[in-house]
Amino acid sequence: MKDLKKLVNLTGPAGFENEIGDLMFERFKKSKAVKEVKRDRIGNVYGIIPGKTENKLMVAAHMDEVGFIVSYISDKGFMRFAPLGGYDKKILPNSKVVFRDTKKTVKGVIGLNPPHAGGGDKVLEIKDLFIDTGYDKKELEKLGIKLGSVCVFDTTLDENENVYIGKGFDDRVGCSVLLNIADNIKMKPDFTIVLAATVQEELGLRGGEVAARTIRPDYALIFEGTYSMDTPGNRPDDWTSYFGHGPAITLFDRTMAADRKYIDYIEKIAKKEKIKYQYKQPRNAGGTDAGKIHLMDNGVPCCVMAAPCRYIHSAYTLMHKDDYKAMKKLGVALCTNFKYSDLKKIYGF
Ligand SMILES: [Zn+2]
Repeated sequence: MKDLKKLVNLTGPAGFENEIGDLMFERFKKSKAVKEVKRDRIGNVYGIIPGKTENKLMVAAHMDEVGFIVSYISDKGFMRFAPLGGYDKKILPNSKVVFRDTKKTVKGVIGLNPPHAGGGDKVLEIKDLFIDTGYDKKELEKLGIKLGSVCVFDTTLDENENVYIGKGFDDRVGCSVLLNIADNIKMKPDFTIVLAATVQEELGLRGGEVAARTIRPDYALIFEGTYSMDTPGNRPDDWTSYFGHGPAITLFDRTMAADRKYIDYIEKIAKKEKIKYQYKQPRNAGGTDAGKIHLMDNGVPCCVMAAPCRYIHSAYTLMHKDDYKAMKKLGVALCTNFKYSDLKKIYGF
């Protein structure tokens, strides 16, 4: 929870993940199991846990979240922006944003005319929206805001008995699974485990590709946040994943058809450890770093496991506490139970 809170409250839009990268780097360094911590030139952060063998298991999660990059500033200080990652333009007007790569934290809103002036009736395009901080262009410059400055939704983590409410669970929940493995793996694993916190997933799986090329893994596990639509008005065949029913395993999406032999192996471990999981409904849509990782070298079996989140890619997302717990438990269970000899029986080498 402490990690999750820090991770989601920080700012790390796609392409600008430094704050998250620094945190992951420092936290990996504090782990007893992690013997080596590295960062590559694109910004991916690696924590290496030596195993009994040199065969590599890559455990990946992406650090970036959706955000906005300033593309124009008027003299009065109104800022146009371009999207970093995908979100529904309908949710943007009247949301609060925060700039943190500045001399001091600057907050603003994405402006919308009030209803009696015609606002709210039509869906505005991103090019018609603007960020208003109340500062003019000169004042913004003094604060360090210029073309290319980035901001994210201004949301801090909240919770009740059942759920967390916050932004960026996609994929800080995965980052937090990585940290939990670093802290809680007790025995020396069979595989050498490379925990990989990647960048720019939301821009097209870019960091994941570099990470896979850097690590050259034999097998990979990807921890994610995905969408759950088990809400009023949606039929069960549209739910995609079921909130509160455990990590959702991807069988098929736009970027990968999962290898069932590998999924079976993972399910066996989850069952043995009594961890609840579900299948994500197959869709020819969406994708994760696995889309790039599984294509490396002579093929890398990948399994994507995601916490179901409601209202993903928005300022306020819900994640069930049971799903979060199960994700963390599954991460440690898989890293502990993965055996090279088992997988050799399946794949022949
Ligand atoms: Zn994601």
